[in-house]
Amino acid sequence: MHSYCASIFLIPTGIMKKVDSICRNFLWGGKDAYLRSPNVSWGTCCSPMEEGGLGLQNASHWNKALIGKYTSWLATKKDHVWVKWVNHVYKKAGYHWLRTQTVKVPWRFLCWNNLNVPKHSFIFWVSQHYKLLTLDRMARMGLGSITTCFICGLEDESHAHLFYNCVYSKKCVGLLQDKLQMIFPADNMVKWYSLGRGRSGLQRIFTGACFVGLTYAIWNARNHARLYSHIIAPWVLVNHICKDIKLRFELRNKSPLKQYDKDWIDNMSKALI
Ligand SMILES: [Zn+2]
Repeated sequence: MHSYCASIFLIPTGIMKKVDSICRNFLWGGKDAYLRSPNVSWGTCCSPMEEGGLGLQNASHWNKALIGKYTSWLATKKDHVWVKWVNHVYKKAGYHWLRTQTVKVPWRFLCWNNLNVPKHSFIFWVSQHYKLLTLDRMARMGLGSITTCFICGLEDESHAHLFYNCVYSKKCVGLLQDKLQMIFPADNMVKWYSLGRGRSGLQRIFTGACFVGLTYAIWNARNHARLYSHIIAPWVLVNHICKDIKLRFELRNKSPLKQYDKDWIDNMSKALI
């Protein structure tokens, strides 16, 4: 809503910071008021998805970029193709010039796969920045002294332990591989996905979406164990993910399936308990 005003006036920095602050609070707390500190910096959130951000816009930078476009229009005072091009470049390139650009992240394709459930993508995105509040991070921040994994109770909880090394996660990955009839490395899934592994494009995208869903589900199971001292059975977790992704696929897919993809999905459905 502020884009119209921001394209005409150079809005005071304090107001733009307030706009950013409302957006940031809503992203991390669901309300406009500050409820909790953000896991990932606002600068990172405002980076393009390919650079590891969420593709949001920093209000201050956007205001300056829009004013840049307006200034160029004032300077030329004529409607010309070249002027239109300058306006276009000022608005786009101006915004990117004002922000700090970073390198493209290799996990962007896996994270923002169209078949992913958005809440799965969001938790996966936070996890790829190693910003989920695992117990080792909380201890380093002075927010607690308990470090033992809530699920297995055998080792300290860290990102690597929770998602790759915990007996619970390994069990979940094994069940998911059985259901999908696909072998993939849980600790190197980004490379597996980027290299186009899998027997077909559809099966690769489907498997990627299930894996991103598994990251969400393991984090959810960990929080459930922490709050209720109850461990969700791995097969429940995996069934739930596969059903969610299959339903999402059926709702979105409008084109006929190749026979081997159809057989693969049918076999996976039979394996669903
Ligand atoms: Zn564990």
